Amino acid sequence: MKQLLLVGGGHAHVEVVRRFGLEPVPGWTVRVVSADAAPIYSGMVPGFVAGLYRADELAIDLPALCARAGASFVHDRVTRIDTRERRALLASGESVSFDLASLDVGSTVAGRELPGVAEYALASRPIAALVDDAEGRVGRLRDAAPGACRVVVVGAGAAGLELAFCLRERLRRAGVRRLETSVLDGAATILPGASRSLVARASRAMQRRGISLLLDREVAAVEADAVRLSNGSRVPADLVVWVTGPAALPLARDSSLPVDARGFVRIDASFEVEGQRDLFAVGDCASLAGMKRAGVYAVRAGPVLDHNLRARMSNRELRRYRPQADFLTLLTLGDGTAIGSKWGISVEGAWVMRLKDHIDRAFVAKYNTRHDETAGR
Ligand SMILES: Cc1cc2nc3c(=O)[nH]c(=O)nc-3n(C[C@H](O)[C@H](O)[C@H](O)COP(=O)(O)OP(=O)(O)OC[C@H]3O[C@@H](n4cnc5c(N)ncnc54)[C@H](O)[C@@H]3O)c2cc1C
Repeated sequence: MKQLLLVGGGHAHVEVVRRFGLEPVPGWTVRVVSADAAPIYSGMVPGFVAGLYRADELAIDLPALCARAGASFVHDRVTRIDTRERRALLASGESVSFDLASLDVGSTVAGRELPGVAEYALASRPIAALVDDAEGRVGRLRDAAPGACRVVVVGAGAAGLELAFCLRERLRRAGVRRLETSVLDGAATILPGASRSLVARASRAMQRRGISLLLDREVAAVEADAVRLSNGSRVPADLVVWVTGPAALPLARDSSLPVDARGFVRIDASFEVEGQRDLFAVGDCASLAGMKRAGVYAVRAGPVLDHNLRARMSNRELRRYRPQADFLTLLTLGDGTAIGSKWGISVEGAWVMRLKDHIDRAFVAKYNTRHDETAGR
């Protein structure tokens, strides 16, 4: 039997596993090695922080998905890919061989190496750690500062804003009365690359809730009770949330794969790693013009990756992936409403949150439910 190795349980790989369960390829077996046995669906994390979801509602049960698909599952972290020997080395010291492999390992958060970030901040990556820590942090803030609490979210992208809205709402409901929530960023605007309509709507939502913006501020360090800026000033904080956007994990560099200037794996339009036949990469870890590091891109990559892996198995032609020019942005505000935006138009309300909840729950259910149970949904 030949071996397809899927490294990481990211959004595209879970779809590949599901499809192999529905339509196995004779002569091939699938093995998944993932650092997380229960990968988290990030789209529901702000809602979890707001108290709208339980932790188990955000997680995909990867061993069960693999078992249903007839794939084997290894709970381990791949530390290096040896492309010449076609082996993946694991953190446990074991190694696994492959005939064909794909990487969907996601990313880490930029700036984690700055002093104090790993020690004091609640960081968005690894996302499983964020989910594990969030409850305890909220509880400690509620107990320690029933009357006053300062939350500083570093990073004014979509995830940073959502976490600011959702934490504020959660702490407000927990009875924290003098709550100061700020979003801090080195850039001059929030939501880089977003439409004017979305930026204006999100800004109004922040103003209505008293969330302040600290833009053009560069962070030098995080301390136990403050964010220290590069100009020497301090922004006092009882909780710092670190959401500064994606940065590359070390796997590609450690494996001597071709990488771009930021360390992301360079791929061609069929997801094959440049110059590496039979090795693919997708999602946040990969670098391709026009492909953004957002879950929706990794989700859309799944069916194309599935097609191309099968094509390689039978020497057929690979399909080219065209990243979508725009996508539906949905921001959870934590109070039962959400903001939505596409094609330069933005909307807001409880119905937008109901739509987001439906999309998100359907995604997770697709991988946690047997095919015959989802048929007819
Ligand atoms: C708080 C937050 C909210 C977000 N909300 C949205 C949203 O609403 N919409 C949206 O489009 N995007 C959103 N994003 C961005 C989104 O999370 C990422 O773009 C998306 O998860 C990338 O998917 P992926 O398949 O590349 O990898 P991931 O979903 O990150 O999965 C990678 C998996 O690989 C595993 N892994 C990592 N390294 C190794 C290794 N060396 N060996 C084995 N396994 C490994 C990890 O444990 C993980 O399970 C959000 C991000 C954050 C932080």
